[in-house]
Amino acid sequence: MARSISYITGSQLLSLRRHPSIAVVDVRDDERSYDGHISGSLHYASDTFSDNISNLIQAVKGKDTLVFHCALSQVRGPTCARRLVNYLEENKEDTGIKNIMVLERGFNGWEASGRPVCRCTNIPCKGELSP
Ligand SMILES: [Zn+2]
Repeated sequence: MARSISYITGSQLLSLRRHPSIAVVDVRDDERSYDGHISGSLHYASDTFSDNISNLIQAVKGKDTLVFHCALSQVRGPTCARRLVNYLEENKEDTGIKNIMVLERGFNGWEASGRPVCRCTNIPCKGELSP
């Protein structure tokens, strides 16, 4: 069950977007509310991530690939991805999660490349990963 974290680019994520078993996990803190978000992404803020990890696992039932990101995916995104890996290793429950990834360049890189940004205020976002 050992898992490693791999990186995925924005264009790879877009090409996988119709894959029903992918969940995008945004771990930014307040920025999500004013900067917009990747459509369909879940929000688990990094500052409370560890407290909500079992909720996250419930929310992604049926998904086998989780893609984490923060603003730049340099600190918070990889840190939270690592926390999930550690949690899964410690708890050994069968969650069905097979791949834990980090979106390269984060939300800011996603937006800077002109990729679609959702600005809804729904919690959770009801959008699809693709526009
Ligand atoms: Zn939305």
